[in-house]
Amino acid sequence: MGRNRKISKVQAPPRVEGFNPFGYYANEQEAIILHVEEYEAIRLLDYESLNQKEAAEYMSISRPSLTRIYERARKKIATALTQALQIKIEGGASVYNGSWLECENCNSHFNKLPADNSNVCPLCGSSVINQLKVQE
Ligand SMILES: [Zn+2]
Repeated sequence: MGRNRKISKVQAPPRVEGFNPFGYYANEQEAIILHVEEYEAIRLLDYESLNQKEAAEYMSISRPSLTRIYERARKKIATALTQALQIKIEGGASVYNGSWLECENCNSHFNKLPADNSNVCPLCGSSVINQLKVQE
């Protein structure tokens, strides 16, 4: 820990906030927190069947970073399944593709989380910003 974590690009928010085991009372305090980029790694590799190189490019991270994220994700899901724990999908270091923006004044590219409603460039303060098309 301590080094900067690379921000992963995620195509879209997960459809649910998490999962709850059937037939067993799972304490919410013990829920496994699956970060959004971990969810995305599972989605791309196991559901969409991309290979690790493709998935890493899709998320704009290095392949070793993707491998670490994916292994963490699998360990968390396996733990939740075997220990009958809730899974909550939240947090982490990721940004949705649609939230990348470009400043027309200084041409910087930046992003913000959906909850951030400010509409100014974080570098120059200009309010002339456009949605950035993300290349596939
Ligand atoms: Zn700017």
